[in-house]
Amino acid sequence: MTAIPQERRVVTAIPGPKSQELQARRTATVAGGVGSVLPVFTARAGGGIIEDVDGNRLIDFGSGIAVTSVGASAEAVVRRASAQLADFTHTCFMVTPYEGYVEVCEALAELTPGDHAKKSALFNSGAEAVENAVKVARSYTGRQAVVVFDHGYHGRTNLTMALTAKNMPYKHGFGPFAPEVYRVPVAYGYRWPTGAENAGAEASAQAIDMISKQVGAENVAAIIIEPVLGEGGFIEPAKGFLPAIAEFARENGIVFVADEIQSGFCRTGQWFACEDEGVVPDLITTAKGIAGGLPLAAVTGRAEIMDAVHSGGLGGTYGGNPVACAGALGSIETMKELDLNAKARRIEEVMKGRLATMQEKYPAIGDIRGRGAMIAIELVKDPATKEPDAAAAGALAKACHAEGLLVLTCGTYGNVLRFLPPLVIGEDLLNEGLDILEQAFAGV
Ligand SMILES: *Cc1c(COP(=O)(O)O)cnc(C)c1O
Repeated sequence: MTAIPQERRVVTAIPGPKSQELQARRTATVAGGVGSVLPVFTARAGGGIIEDVDGNRLIDFGSGIAVTSVGASAEAVVRRASAQLADFTHTCFMVTPYEGYVEVCEALAELTPGDHAKKSALFNSGAEAVENAVKVARSYTGRQAVVVFDHGYHGRTNLTMALTAKNMPYKHGFGPFAPEVYRVPVAYGYRWPTGAENAGAEASAQAIDMISKQVGAENVAAIIIEPVLGEGGFIEPAKGFLPAIAEFARENGIVFVADEIQSGFCRTGQWFACEDEGVVPDLITTAKGIAGGLPLAAVTGRAEIMDAVHSGGLGGTYGGNPVACAGALGSIETMKELDLNAKARRIEEVMKGRLATMQEKYPAIGDIRGRGAMIAIELVKDPATKEPDAAAAGALAKACHAEGLLVLTCGTYGNVLRFLPPLVIGEDLLNEGLDILEQAFAGV
């Protein structure tokens, strides 16, 4: 493996001719429902760089949607996964087990919040983990209702579409959706009518009132929340909201599930984002950053809850694939060795400092938020009215792409630019990316 030079390089139009050729082949054969943010075809990637087939090197502020936190070709991930590939690719853990699966569950028990006895089950994707958390919670409580939040995102399968808030593009035309799913308000500080300082207390009171009056706490199996909401716009629930909801769940025998699929594994400068307010979830779902790019997901939680399910009730052919487990162990090794929590906090410091300077010049930046290397700006037409400006987010992303900076958008109103660099990105590249963003503001 040759290390990719950690330097931006733009040698063709973006996308270049070879990417355009591949894009034509792709259009002819790949289903149109599968989109791409930027149709630049990847040749290799690592550190903070994605190199395309035309030889361009893009600065990566996306990490394949918060996946490659350790980089897309981290040494320990490649080493461990390659060794595992040579030994065996698959047996199915439900047929004959292997050590890597057990080691990942041991690591999850060690790293997730709380010092209670924990157990885990492994799966392939985030959506699958969330679905299984619901299965476990229903089995444990003997109840059916599931409570989720405004702006929440939990996946694209039938049950997780029901749990997801946003219609377009995730749900539109794909109903009917799974029943017994109830949505309540979240403390979205920037848009809370009486101000961010009241959002935590008021939103939690409203949510609890709705659950109690409309669903009945005694009917609720699980409350599922992202401690920092991802696709919904990197919304950090205002202070006090998460602890209040967790407390309500505890008082009423409801399984409190933290969906840390995007926010977990050092992304926010902690192993898990819920640690910031001392919240200890009953169950926690993880995926994305867990395995350095290999497909793996997990549900981890209180042993007595996880063990409520009958033997054979959880599983899947590929769940906890040995190569993906090896990747996870390599990824966790890298996170510890390089102290990527500290790196994430440094990325936050650099980004928020630069973005605050940009905000003084460009009032279209209505809000700067997020934690660690999960940072976003919300764009508005006028900071007084806070009218969302999705066109500005799109134009800025496009301008950044043309200069070789990969950024993503998100948000219920499509007006949020989000930054998810690999945690191993060099500070020079980070600053160069922010320079490009600043130039994009000047141009748009
Ligand atoms: C991405 C994501 C999911 C779904 O994960 P997939 O691996 O795409 O199925 C679920 N929850 C959150 C918070 C996510 O960010």
